[in-house]
Amino acid sequence: MSQNLPDSMRTSVLEGAKTLTIEDRPLPQAGPGDVLVRVAAVGVCGSDVHYFRHGRIGDFVVDGPLVLGHELSGVIAAVGAGVDEARIGQRVAIEPQKPCHRCRECLAGHYNLCPNMEFYATPPIDGAFTGYVTIESAFAHAVPDSISDEAAALLEPLSVAITTMRKAHVVPGSRVLIAGAGPIGIICAQTARAFGASEVIVSDLVPERRERALGYGATQVVDPAEVDVATAGFDVDAFVDASGAPRAVFAGIQAVRPAGYAVLVGLGNSEMTLPVEHIQNKEVWVTGIFRYTDTWPAGIHLVESGQVDLDSLVTGRFDLDHVEEALESDLDPASLKSIVYPHQ
Ligand SMILES: [Zn+2]
Ligand SMILES: [Zn+2]
Repeated sequence: MSQNLPDSMRTSVLEGAKTLTIEDRPLPQAGPGDVLVRVAAVGVCGSDVHYFRHGRIGDFVVDGPLVLGHELSGVIAAVGAGVDEARIGQRVAIEPQKPCHRCRECLAGHYNLCPNMEFYATPPIDGAFTGYVTIESAFAHAVPDSISDEAAALLEPLSVAITTMRKAHVVPGSRVLIAGAGPIGIICAQTARAFGASEVIVSDLVPERRERALGYGATQVVDPAEVDVATAGFDVDAFVDASGAPRAVFAGIQAVRPAGYAVLVGLGNSEMTLPVEHIQNKEVWVTGIFRYTDTWPAGIHLVESGQVDLDSLVTGRFDLDHVEEALESDLDPASLKSIVYPHQ
């Protein structure tokens, strides 16, 4: 079952580092249990930028044409066998992952760690800088009309922040230190407050970014070039690294109180030095996060209830012919989040 659908869709394709082309591609078909989604808005993520500039992220290498974009919202345009036709026309936010649901990790409840995962815009799986995509029906989360297309797309980075707060055990009264005031740091600061944090200290080298963090949940901002985070006596319950900077990670872990938590979110070097004595002697828990499991319902609630503002993070809007500009927009320090509109 479907609405009237076109025969083809314009698609922005990454052919290799720094090389984008536009192709007309046939629409994908919604298989059993899947829905076909007409893409509305797509957020540009740091990982998209990284694939565009370097053609790889660690072991994930772009060795064939790849469609970028994994933060998206849209409208269900068709459903596959076994999916309620009443969903056609529904506005949805997409959880852009396809786990196998059968392996040990899926059965253990952390499907984000599925070794058979197909994740949007991660080689060789195509993403959403295109007209239509498919996803299993349960991962097309209905959104209320009070949530805009842009905010619905940005439920994806919000999901990263929700996972981070869960891993960091942030509860009412927690004191949290966040390194890095880019998009993820800013969303983490808001989410920490929504989880009840009483204090959110954000460190960033750039004054404009520190200033902006104060408008998004930070109760205090620090310049790590002036304040030694490791010895400033912060003694926080949780440290979140959203910078990927080895020095920030080293100092941030040292700012964690005994038996507290450190969560590494930022992408940086694959190897770095850690303050092992502090981790051992203070029994600090250190972990990373890899995407998310079961976060969209929480994200929809946080946005709908006004506890997290995603709309005002958007600083640039682009059509498919200007994806390159969208991917380069992070070079402007005033830019925070860019959105691509594939149908404009
Ligand atoms: Zn992302
Ligand atoms: Zn699996």
